[in-house]
Amino acid sequence: MSASSMQVRSDLLREQNFIGGVWRNAREDAWLEVVDPASGKGIARVPDSGAADARDATRAASEALPAWRATTARYRAQLLKQWHVRIVASTEDLAKIISLEQGKPLGEARGEVAYGASYVEWFAEEAVRAYGDIIPAVVAGRRMMVVKEPLGVVAAITPWNFPLAMLARKAAPALAAGCTVVAKPAEDTPLTALALARLAEEAGLPAGTMNVVTASRANAAGTVAAWLADSRVRKITFTGSTAVGKELARGSADTLKKLSLELGGNAPFIVFEDADIKAAVEGLMRAKFRNGGQTCVSPNRVYVHDAVYKEFARQLVARVAALRVGPANLPGSEIGPMINFRAVEKIERHVRDAVARGATLLTGGQPVQNEIAAGPNYYAPTVLGEATHSMALASEETFGPVVALFRFRSEEEVVRHANDTPYGLAAYFYSRDVSRICRVAERLETGIVGINEGAFASEAAPFGGIKESGYGREGSRYGLDEFLATKYLCQGGLA
Ligand code: NAP
Repeated sequence: MSASSMQVRSDLLREQNFIGGVWRNAREDAWLEVVDPASGKGIARVPDSGAADARDATRAASEALPAWRATTARYRAQLLKQWHVRIVASTEDLAKIISLEQGKPLGEARGEVAYGASYVEWFAEEAVRAYGDIIPAVVAGRRMMVVKEPLGVVAAITPWNFPLAMLARKAAPALAAGCTVVAKPAEDTPLTALALARLAEEAGLPAGTMNVVTASRANAAGTVAAWLADSRVRKITFTGSTAVGKELARGSADTLKKLSLELGGNAPFIVFEDADIKAAVEGLMRAKFRNGGQTCVSPNRVYVHDAVYKEFARQLVARVAALRVGPANLPGSEIGPMINFRAVEKIERHVRDAVARGATLLTGGQPVQNEIAAGPNYYAPTVLGEATHSMALASEETFGPVVALFRFRSEEEVVRHANDTPYGLAAYFYSRDVSRICRVAERLETGIVGINEGAFASEAAPFGGIKESGYGREGSRYGLDEFLATKYLCQGGLA
């Protein structure tokens, strides 16, 4: 399907950068083809920008900043609410764009629109609560005050797996705080970001407050380098791989920018012997197969107690084998195509390696190509049994629909294995023992823990990791603080 044939509001299908309130081509007039991951065919073209375009965006955002930060929080909240209303009203169009360029089933794409919109609404509401403090003076005749101020221009760099939600949960708090935004979406999914910018324009966000620059993978580093080097850009908010997160931290060291890094994960999912097995299977299905397993909080290592291993595997395999693989727009599809062929190759490498090292293939285990799933990027939902820690999938994020089952025998052993990774984004466990729940929740070294729950993300909760999964939090009241500087005002001579 091509973008123009999918019956989407035509003004949401943008093929230009949005800089300073103007839709324009890249300075070099270079283009990047956007590809439908289901068919591998081109669907649209967007600018393949470079450093000069990134600098133009910085200039626009810097020029817009003084007026924007001077507005009242109430005013900014009203504009964000307008943006929210327009996003929700455009759910069907946005979902089609997400599905077309990203490949997730349409129902999931609608869910992503609702999820992304919820951050815009939340931060519209939080904008008016960026309170400061009055501190009891330690010296007579002084007043000690704390105020929160916007950081300035924020650069947002987003991945392809949640092209709408990741941008919304960065741009909304930044704008609510009084910052202006320059954004670069992933090469695979620029159309969603441009549609979101169009709706921001329609909502009346002033020119230059929200800018989007698209670029190819080859030009990503060069484009972003212009932001890293520029002292006017005060903050980088990034979601993506740990390797690139580290590059951004290194690259912004000279200008000491504030960073929020939402990076990769390697989530453990633990099923204790006292768990409700049926609930654990359902929780795993929700956590693992959303977006075809291409989520940062996707369970990568599923630890099942020896005493319930057989029954858990039996119930899980029955559910996984019944998942329907197909294109995003086919009603009933549950697993769409992977984002690109590189992703399929990584999944294949992990499965081959696991089987060579002794894993048993319980279902799936190969790419799918048939009359329904007709493209090159489909992979069968897979369950591997008897996984061990020598396998690549134990230490690397698979980012696909593959469940690896590890057997364990004691709480002490499984917590040690769960924590034995450089990553620390999310963990899950299922147990009905109250003491164990408290103990294990405390000992897991992650930013998020799902306890008898497979789906925890919410605009009202802080999302983020520890260790090499990064730092900073998105969503909740903590999410606004990431875009605010704390300023201490000390007024003397009052005695
Ligand atoms: P990625 O390769 O790190 O890309 C993320 C973004 O950075 C894209 O816009 C990408 O552009 C850009 N980029 C790539 N190389 C760059 C460079 N050298 N300098 C500046 N920007 C660069 O990650 P991905 O493969 O798209 O996303 C998957 C990863 O994101 C996984 O590890 C996943 O766990 C993580 N993730 C984390 C969270 C979280 O909240 N913690 C949420 C979602 C995903 P191009 O696409 O054009 O290369």
